[in-house]
Amino acid sequence: MREFDYRILITGQLSTNKYRYPNEKKEVICTTTLLSGHGLNVIIDPGWRDEPLLASLREAQVAPEQIDIVYVTHMHADHIRSIRLFPGARWLASPREIDNWRVKIPEADRDILERLEPVEDEIVSGLNIVQTPGHTLAHTSVLFRHDGRRVLVAADAVLVKEYYEHREVHVISEDQELAKQTIDEIKTLADIVIPGHDEPFEAF
Ligand SMILES: [Zn+2]
Repeated sequence: MREFDYRILITGQLSTNKYRYPNEKKEVICTTTLLSGHGLNVIIDPGWRDEPLLASLREAQVAPEQIDIVYVTHMHADHIRSIRLFPGARWLASPREIDNWRVKIPEADRDILERLEPVEDEIVSGLNIVQTPGHTLAHTSVLFRHDGRRVLVAADAVLVKEYYEHREVHVISEDQELAKQTIDEIKTLADIVIPGHDEPFEAF
């Protein structure tokens, strides 16, 4: 089984989190993860803050030109916009997610949608694509092994740790009940969860 290393390039946060900061409104930031191994650097969800992402890559001693693949879990702007920092990489997403957004992508992001290549089942051998619908109807996550443990880059299938714990989904999730069922499934899939807007945690 091919294993990969992972590094959190940007730790995300929600604008509001009633469990952690009920009376604050923060900037929405998505968690960005770098997966490395077998001669490949893969970014999952580049987010939308160019400068912090570039700074974090510098710290990791990875040049933007060394990113081979960028995979996006769903088409929300806060997860995809910084993909433009990687013109030399392959841009990948699930075919159903791409199709669903053809009619509703904001014009500002249409260039991204049009360059994305559809990919099913795996990004490369060892980086498996898992269907995690509900937040968007064709939302996907990425499952891989590290040190013998199953790590899931859940993205917005699990927004933050407390949402996982309380089986709570985002108000804007397209199918709330499906999103809750997806959380239940993730509990059987992963040992470590990397949420869409929080730091990684041990699955429980
Ligand atoms: Zn989202």
